[in-house]
Amino acid sequence: MRSILSSLTAALTAALLLLAPGAGQAQTLQDVAKALGADTVKSLEIQGTGASFLVGQSVLPGQPWPQFNIKSLTLLMNYETGSLREEAIRVRALEPPRGGGAYARGDLRQIVALSGDHAWNVVADAPVPAPIAVTDRQFQLWSTPQGVVKAALAGQGTMQGRTIAIAVPGRFKATATVGASNLIERVDATVANAVLGDMAVTVTYADYKDFGGVKFPTKIRQTAGGHPSVELTVTDVSPNFVFDAPLPAVVRQTPNPYARVTSQMVADGVWYVTGGTHHSVLIEMKDYVVVVESPQNDERAFAVITEARNLVPAKPIRYVVMSHHHFDHAGGLRGFAARNVTVITHESSRDYLERALSTPATVNPDALTKSGLRPSVEGVRGKRVLSDGTRVVEIHHLPSQHTDDLLMVYLPKEKLLVEADVYSPLPANTAPPMPPSPFTVAFADEVAKLRLAVDQILPLHGRIVPFSELNKTIGR
Ligand SMILES: [Zn+2]
Repeated sequence: MRSILSSLTAALTAALLLLAPGAGQAQTLQDVAKALGADTVKSLEIQGTGASFLVGQSVLPGQPWPQFNIKSLTLLMNYETGSLREEAIRVRALEPPRGGGAYARGDLRQIVALSGDHAWNVVADAPVPAPIAVTDRQFQLWSTPQGVVKAALAGQGTMQGRTIAIAVPGRFKATATVGASNLIERVDATVANAVLGDMAVTVTYADYKDFGGVKFPTKIRQTAGGHPSVELTVTDVSPNFVFDAPLPAVVRQTPNPYARVTSQMVADGVWYVTGGTHHSVLIEMKDYVVVVESPQNDERAFAVITEARNLVPAKPIRYVVMSHHHFDHAGGLRGFAARNVTVITHESSRDYLERALSTPATVNPDALTKSGLRPSVEGVRGKRVLSDGTRVVEIHHLPSQHTDDLLMVYLPKEKLLVEADVYSPLPANTAPPMPPSPFTVAFADEVAKLRLAVDQILPLHGRIVPFSELNKTIGR
């Protein structure tokens, strides 16, 4: 009896030794949860300063993302409800800017939110649905040290040795590395992306401090697609801050705003396709259709393709012209490539786009991945003319600080000009920005230099305007 007890004790002691933290020993999720204080935390309020970079808005593919300095940031996260609210005041690092993003001088106050599978932005105190941002915001929530552990404990992941693997199907998969003291040191992830298919994202966590029983890193660095995307110094963390982001009715009622398109005929066989923040233009040729711009994502691409079929049932779409490589403008190209449509882009983006469209989407297999088609991409240097005896379409390179690969489309007979991001007319009766955007001034100069006779501008953001409004905007 006694010997059985002592051998049981010995076995228990051995088992307990195995559970004790130490280098090389197998850890459990509970050990990591305990070390981080994740077992008791339901929500966090995080304050910080640093820099963030606009992913997908570089001046040219392969270049770093444009930098914004963060003057203040308050990030609220609730792991129980899967919600997040980020309020930040940012200021552009460069003035005049190079690259994309809202053009504004001085402080930019931005509020973004997530609740479960819904994302929205708060613009002038009103919620604006932004389902395209759900993936990035869910990654932001669940890639935090506490988020990784909570996701794994909730059955979304597993721990093996010193790594924790988590995944949200269709959105991202990530591997977290557990360092000494059972704290998470880094996260390596693959995040679904509308242009690249898959995008590599890394996050490193350093200089952990104790905030009321919760250990949180005070240095956070993130890269996306190979370039810095966040560099944050955390100044304060409040565990179990009472917070939730209630889902606004307008967000619940608009689950897929990208699928709604409205078209307006602006000349015989030319349609301005709007409905949302990003527009396209359809141009009917003798035997085929040209689409200018396929923004956002697959849903938008297929809505535009359906619209083209309804308007011009007998002719196939042969070309889609990309205005520039920014993610919001190029996000629907994979959908067009899945329908065997040739992409026309500036020569400087051709290689990049060919590679991106040839890369299968593994996290969220899209129509292009499923089609197995090889993309067809053609480059334009200075100018290319599509003509078939019935209509002339001129594609011009537009030199700009916004991007180096910007193209505009000009219809000489109809006197129509299509452009993106260098001039986005504000609603009628709104005072134009003063001083005017340098992008807009450079655009007007280029149109004058090329001696293009323009009656109307079809902007890919904003609204159709007579050419005179451009001159008024820049005070000419
Ligand atoms: Zn842009």
